[in-house]
Amino acid sequence: MTKSSAHEWTARLQQLLGREREILVELVLALADFDRQRAYLELGYSSLWDYVHRAIGQSETMTHYRVSAARFVQRFPQAVEPLRAGRLCITTLATLAPVVTEANCDAVLAEAMEKPKREVERIKARLAPKPVPRDVVRKAPAPFPGKVAQSPVQVELLTEELARRHVTTDREFEELLAGARSALSHAMPGASELEILKQGLRCIVRDHEKRKGLTERPRPPRQPTARPSPDAAISRPVRRAVWQRDQGRCQWPTEDGGICGSRQRVEFHHVIDRGKGGPSTEDNLILACAVHNQYAADQTWGREFMEKLRRHGAGRLTAAVAPRAPPRRRRR
Ligand SMILES: [Zn+2]
Repeated sequence: MTKSSAHEWTARLQQLLGREREILVELVLALADFDRQRAYLELGYSSLWDYVHRAIGQSETMTHYRVSAARFVQRFPQAVEPLRAGRLCITTLATLAPVVTEANCDAVLAEAMEKPKREVERIKARLAPKPVPRDVVRKAPAPFPGKVAQSPVQVELLTEELARRHVTTDREFEELLAGARSALSHAMPGASELEILKQGLRCIVRDHEKRKGLTERPRPPRQPTARPSPDAAISRPVRRAVWQRDQGRCQWPTEDGGICGSRQRVEFHHVIDRGKGGPSTEDNLILACAVHNQYAADQTWGREFMEKLRRHGAGRLTAAVAPRAPPRRRRR
């Protein structure tokens, strides 16, 4: 596809999305009117929710969002304009509905404009924090030798093999988990949280065993075998500098002047391809996700050629674009 036809697609999709939003706002306003007049009673339904779900045939999730939004705009009509402009969406209204009051409405809506779902949930949690379980606020036990820390979480055995663990996490944990997911995205793409945590725990145990000299030959990490990394040609200081400069995120430019920003399967990308004499210097390197690295190779060498290589050939070019594990540390 050429860039100009991709632009035509963008214009068309934006137009359709704009129409979708207009219709959705009209729907929410109509539902609000319908609700105000309690017209569902005439038709034998006990509530707007019941009516939308059963008579209109919307799924429970859709019903929840639409009815919540319809109620919201009845209470706070100032939400309608930002809804029309696409600065608020109905999921935001549904999330905030339980915590918005006459007194805080304007400030809360202003804060939530154009925010992703996770941020909106944070606003809600700040305004109406849930009670924090006691095991979380309890101080971490002092590391006295011989004293074993009590389990800080509830564990429920489900089967002989499986247990359910109730853990309350904090913001740092969420950030660490996102970082670990990104770090493991080559070796363990799509890994579950359990797998990511287990991998981290294995590292702690292995590290401890190594330090104490408990194992003669430390077991290699349980990961799929890695291909030799093409990043090996890039010197360590350059790798470190590029990684820090690009903050571990794909720097591929988007049309609107931003960047891709993905942290999944991030690789070092030569702006001028190595095969065309591009050097492995800080200036010629950026971080790029595997999708963009692959796309760049398609642009440079032609998609047909690259697809043939990916299908049939091992070799340097394939290794440069295929998903791969991060370089392994040499054992000491
Ligand atoms: Zn990318």
